Amino acid sequence: MRDVIVLGSTGSIGRQTLSVCRNLGYRVTAIAAGSNVELMEQQIREFRPLIAAVADESKAADLKMRVDDTGTKVLSGENGICEAAVCRYGDIVLSAIVGIAGLRPTAEAIKSKKDIALANKETLVTAGHIIMPMAKEYGVKILPVDSEHSAVFQSLTGNKNNKIKSIILTASGGPFFGYGKEQLRNVTVSQALKHPSWSMGAKITIDSATMMNKGLEIIEAAHLFDVDVDDIQVVIHRESILHSAVEYEDNSVIGQMGVPDMRTAIQYAFTYPKRCASEVKRLNFAELGKMTFYAPDDSVFPAMSLCREAFKRGGNAPAVLNGANEAAVGLFLNGKIGFTDITKAVKDTLYNINFKSADTIEAVLEADKEARSYVSDLG
Ligand code: NAD
Ligand code: MG
Repeated sequence: MRDVIVLGSTGSIGRQTLSVCRNLGYRVTAIAAGSNVELMEQQIREFRPLIAAVADESKAADLKMRVDDTGTKVLSGENGICEAAVCRYGDIVLSAIVGIAGLRPTAEAIKSKKDIALANKETLVTAGHIIMPMAKEYGVKILPVDSEHSAVFQSLTGNKNNKIKSIILTASGGPFFGYGKEQLRNVTVSQALKHPSWSMGAKITIDSATMMNKGLEIIEAAHLFDVDVDDIQVVIHRESILHSAVEYEDNSVIGQMGVPDMRTAIQYAFTYPKRCASEVKRLNFAELGKMTFYAPDDSVFPAMSLCREAFKRGGNAPAVLNGANEAAVGLFLNGKIGFTDITKAVKDTLYNINFKSADTIEAVLEADKEARSYVSDLG
């Protein structure tokens, strides 16, 4: 039995998390989300959390009215989200708010000594250098939920004293795998939102199409597993069955496989180091037939090299890159810029904002703001 706090409960990961909690019979003690109060009401009626926090202040009164008879305390705004994150009845926080908005609540949860099941990769991308030592200081576990990082985490089990040669992150390649530069220029929002193997929120789906998602995951892996970015390889694997792998000193490669379903990673973060029965479909190799692998094309999708570069620069650079990307993805989704302009805007921002150190959460958020305002001037 676990008491779970779900941040981002109305999103793709949040909803799948609640389904895992339902299946395992876990209590959900607090939920937090952006603005979908209709869905929050349903979640409150089913799980009866102590706290429900909605980021959009203008929706708080509506939510309060809807659930007045339930005994759930309704909070709002960023402070309300942070209060949900530290709810005293909660031993693990599933962090699945999208974007840097997840950073502060995740940091607060760590300070209140709760283990973190981390889906929100932007937390480590922008502030891994602060968050990882913070988790150590407060004695909490960061359990990866991103499928690749869960796979690496699982492939590291039992190999504590063995030397790692490389980490191999797999990438689906997104909807535009095999496209040339010219073809990419004219792709539409609805084409970019059609992911071949995963159904996810809009922002990460666009990130998968630009390959920025894989770049962010390189940074995330470097922090989580304390490996050099140059020892993190990426290989395109269209079927999304091998979720990632670790290459050891003897050239053995240990990976984790399964059908593409985020509930596997979510559940493992909850039950680690144990495994238990799940609703996820079994993998049938004969039905699958084949698995294919290709090298990524950095000349068409330069996002990954920008991410490696930002990580090597350190300081404010990863937060600037991430903030620029969030803003540019927003502009693309609103039809203000083209698809290839996203990565171009990220590059311009990264090269034009002065390098600074960013040793506190406040400094990271400042870098994020600076990057967003730079990009909004481009849109
Ligand atoms: P989503 O857009 O479906 O859901 C985002 C959630 O965050 C929603 O509940 C939304 O209401 C909430 N939210 C947005 N802004 C907020 C704010 N300011 N304050 C509080 N809540 C806010 O996104 P998703 O696909 O579920 O992804 C969530 C995170 O998990 C992202 O960081 C993503 O990179 C990561 N992730 C997702 C997947 C996936 O399969 N969907 C896989 C790996 C990692
Ligand atoms: Mg992933």
